[in-house]
Amino acid sequence: MTDRAPPTPLEDRLALTIKAGGPISVGDFITDALGHPQHGFYTAHEAIGAAGAFTTAPEVSQVFGELIGAWLVDSWTAMGEPARTVLIELGPGRGVMMADILRVAAKRPDFERSLQVRLYEQSARLRLQQSKRLQDAADLDWLLDLNDAPDAPMLAVGNEFLDCLPLRQFQKTERGWRERVVGLGADGRLAFALDNRDVAADVPPWAEGEPDGAIIEIRPEAEEIVQFFCERLKKRPGRALFIDYGHARSAPGDTLQALRGHERVGPLETPGEADITAHVDFAALARAAIEAGAAVYGPITQGAFLRRLGAAERTERLKARATAEQAKLLDSGLDRLIGAGEMGELFKVICIASPGLPAPAGFVEL
Ligand code: SAH
Repeated sequence: MTDRAPPTPLEDRLALTIKAGGPISVGDFITDALGHPQHGFYTAHEAIGAAGAFTTAPEVSQVFGELIGAWLVDSWTAMGEPARTVLIELGPGRGVMMADILRVAAKRPDFERSLQVRLYEQSARLRLQQSKRLQDAADLDWLLDLNDAPDAPMLAVGNEFLDCLPLRQFQKTERGWRERVVGLGADGRLAFALDNRDVAADVPPWAEGEPDGAIIEIRPEAEEIVQFFCERLKKRPGRALFIDYGHARSAPGDTLQALRGHERVGPLETPGEADITAHVDFAALARAAIEAGAAVYGPITQGAFLRRLGAAERTERLKARATAEQAKLLDSGLDRLIGAGEMGELFKVICIASPGLPAPAGFVEL
């Protein structure tokens, strides 16, 4: 037997639920592990940043958020410079990226004046941090439901948001497709199991020929969010940009992973104390958007996107007025953002846009 940490308070609660009602879906497990009102990872812990479980691109270098800010200004121009623009950020974390975006926006006063900033954030703890960091924003509010977003031309961004939405995992067995669930092992600890019901009807066409043993993942909530933006973007001009880690083509594989204090742990090991994510299937999102009638650009790698937006040039400009120590940090930050062995290749960028707008910056070679 391997050493296993004692059950967390959330594991105890989940074990009770499972004893009473049977195994729970992987999606419900993720929802509680991240968002449980008392014990969820984002509710109860300092999740993001050097002191948390993981670091994200905006936390690595201000260049990331500034380039996204410049991309948004460019998009607003392409949209015809509307007098009112809803800017939504999905899962804003500590508010660092939005702060960098708004600093860039301030350089175009007419853009800045047009903005209604709306944050979509489930964690009360993070909403508080966002409100402190963004207190100078003129028109700032939170959305509990995306449908409450004002009806206006729209820009949206989400960095490492889709990867924490719940997913469903299916496994091909000799009896057909079955859903992977979380139950209890002989030792009473959380363990993966397979449900008995046939889920063939929910298996996407690309996976139909997979062999026995294959595991596939679908993320209905991510597709619903993409569909929401498609509907809005068909009515009024705008663009939505999603950046996340994942694969450009749909492929089988169990990608569920957990990080605790920057270390990998088993996904079921310390629920509530670890961040749990899984790869984003960008091809599935692109298909959902095309079906819904929006224009889709990408997915392309984060490295290519940021390079084309001028990440290296921006870093050099910042270095020109930085101390030697700051310059070193800027260089290592740039490498983390665009380096192939770092975030540059694994992370992808996709843009969903109103039909009829020109191709967005970063997606085409200039
Ligand atoms: N974008 C930030 C944070 C990424 S972490 C950054 O790059 O640093 C994921 C963020 O999504 C957190 O803010 C988390 O609380 C939020 N989140 C996760 N699931 C969510 C959900 N279902 N609804 C709203 N926000 C969610």
